[in-house]
Amino acid sequence: YHPQSQSISYTTLTRFPPVKLLPPSSRKRVLVTGGAGFVGSHLVDRLMLLGHEVTVLDNFFTGSKTSVSHWVGHPNFELVRHDVVEPFMIECDQIYHLACPASPVHYQFNAVKTIKTSFQGTLNMLGLAKRTKARFLLTSTSEVYGDPEVHPQPEDYWGHVNPIGPRACYDEGKRVAETLTYGFHNQDGVDVRVARIFNTYGPRMNPQDGRVVSNFIVQALRGQDLTVYGDGSQTRSFQYIHDLVDGLIALMNSSDTRPVNLGNGDEFTILEFAQLVRDIVEDVQRADGVAAPRRVNIVHEGLPKDDPQKRRPDTSRAKSSLDWQPRWTVRMGLEEMVRYYKAKMAEGSL
Ligand code: NAD
Ligand code: UDP
Repeated sequence: YHPQSQSISYTTLTRFPPVKLLPPSSRKRVLVTGGAGFVGSHLVDRLMLLGHEVTVLDNFFTGSKTSVSHWVGHPNFELVRHDVVEPFMIECDQIYHLACPASPVHYQFNAVKTIKTSFQGTLNMLGLAKRTKARFLLTSTSEVYGDPEVHPQPEDYWGHVNPIGPRACYDEGKRVAETLTYGFHNQDGVDVRVARIFNTYGPRMNPQDGRVVSNFIVQALRGQDLTVYGDGSQTRSFQYIHDLVDGLIALMNSSDTRPVNLGNGDEFTILEFAQLVRDIVEDVQRADGVAAPRRVNIVHEGLPKDDPQKRRPDTSRAKSSLDWQPRWTVRMGLEEMVRYYKAKMAEGSL
């Protein structure tokens, strides 16, 4: 901040990280739905540091106020408790529409609410984009490809989804959200972007949400067995949160209205991934001078129904259209994540 050009008190100046001072002409009014969640809070951090005016809408189902509380009181920031299944009116230039639970445990907790959030919530936010002429970005998912028969998955693959299975509320919810998005684009000229996000991990991921990265790291740090579901031959590829945020902002500011995959192309079987996490946790503990407890075991538990057998993004569109590719290796990202959970454990909040 430049205190000369804004009437902000000294207290404000020291409370917040340095935010770019953009002239009003390039400062955007950005709405982030689901901005108090894992991905949303990192996106909000970046948008704030870039100097934009950010409003977060969240019902705090899986997100929490603490993930963005460091911005509360900043003149460019507003946090509103609101459920996107209800309409909302605000003047804005860009809408990042993230609101939707993302982990299987959370989205299956109330399947009807999940699909209602995807359908009604996206309808409301597209209606808002139409009225305000804001550019609208939907955070869709690799789950639209279901249990894919094409590998790796390019954006023109239509997918293989069970419409009545336990994952359907999420997969079909996102598929209908995409359909709505292109409906508003084709019918009403709404300026849209669609990101199909592949498995993403990083700090602020809820350790209780049952996703594989957080489960394995927390288990290894606690000296518990790592729980591999099924025989562990199913594959995933894992993207670090900072790469995703780069990709989302690049997509929003690009001219590409087609769906764009955002993910890391390094593919692991879940069994290989368990071994990798165990090794990295041991390496970090050793580097921190922590005496190694016994080597944790890898145990097998039942495979959830409809668990996709393989998943890896074809990211050639993101590379050619956005000049984007992941910069964080899985090892680098996992080391950061291990340190984050270690710090949480040390402060007693995990
Ligand atoms: P998250 O659960 O941490 O965040 C979702 C946020 O949306 C939370 O803050 C939650 O409280 C809020 N929310 C949920 N329902 C709402 C409603 N009805 N009204 C208002 N707010 C609501 O999940 P995340 O990992 O941060 O995912 C964010 C978005 O990215 C989601 O749309 C998800 O589908 C998408 N995505 C994430 C991943 C991933 O690996 N994290 C992968 C693919 C897609
Ligand atoms: N998984 C596992 N152990 C766990 C949690 C998940 O083996 O403790 C598996 C899960 O069955 C799936 C993969 O890891 O095959 C990724 O699961 P996650 O819930 O993280 O994401 P998604 O299934 O949505 O890709």
